[in-house]
Amino acid sequence: MEKQKSLTIAVYPGSFDPMTLGHLDIVERASRLFPKVIVAVADPLQKRPLIPIDERIEMVRKAVAHLPEVTVEKLTGLLVDFVRKHNASAIIRGLRAVSDFEYEFKMAWMNRRLCPEVETLFLIPSEEYAYLASSLVKEIAFLGGDISNLVPQPIVEDILQAFQRKLKEDKAGI
Ligand code: ADP
Repeated sequence: MEKQKSLTIAVYPGSFDPMTLGHLDIVERASRLFPKVIVAVADPLQKRPLIPIDERIEMVRKAVAHLPEVTVEKLTGLLVDFVRKHNASAIIRGLRAVSDFEYEFKMAWMNRRLCPEVETLFLIPSEEYAYLASSLVKEIAFLGGDISNLVPQPIVEDILQAFQRKLKEDKAGI
């Protein structure tokens, strides 16, 4: 009997603080491979996010609105529990440079240990996004640079407003 192939639902987890064109490139690639992709937006454990989680989720939703196979959800708790709950068979991560490798490898091994039936798949973005990171976008925005070629067009204004608000809060000492 032919073995049933199980690559149907993929989860792409990340902080997306904010979403960049590199992230979008990965979502688009994943959506060409899988009939269903869930972007799982998490709060980073170590650092305080710049943009509150509900706003980040809305921004990702706007940015992927052209992709019918993609949905966006909040990720709370363990990634493997989220993956199981959604009957997903793959975790998608993006790999840019060698610098990503060690961290991503560690996470993939750990997730495999916690949930052996799920595979982590690494996709690489277009060359033009190889050095693009949320942290860079934040630095450029704080220094008043143009971020419109770095983040998805539908959310450029939302991101700039989030930065303005953050700057005001920092000045007010909030
Ligand atoms: P996390 O806090 O989970 O690392 P990020 O939002 O920083 O969340 O990244 C989510 C995933 O997207 C990671 O696998 C990261 O390597 C990948 N990623 C981030 N920027 C890019 C990019 N420019 N090109 C491809 N993948 C990227």
